[in-house]
Amino acid sequence: MKVKIGPYNIDVEYCDVRGPQGEEIYGHTVLAEQKMQIKKNMPKTVTNETILHESIHLIGDLIGLSIKERDVLALSHYLMMYIKDNKGIFIDNTLT
Ligand SMILES: [Zn+2]
Repeated sequence: MKVKIGPYNIDVEYCDVRGPQGEEIYGHTVLAEQKMQIKKNMPKTVTNETILHESIHLIGDLIGLSIKERDVLALSHYLMMYIKDNKGIFIDNTLT
């Protein structure tokens, strides 16, 4: 699967994801490799929110915002609820 963010087509890989100290984490993105790693076998809702979370990190980096981790957590949580609660709100022909 790929996620398109701006000019980038990011490969999404489901695997065991480790942080800098070897700790298990939910997701990680390396823009230079155009690769997003998402922890495998998580519940679907957590997987979806993690993809959104990683995407917000990447968007912030691309537009030059340094968004703090706690703000990314809040944004991904509320944007996921917004997406779930407003299915069908966007008119398809405005998205092309
Ligand atoms: Zn994060």
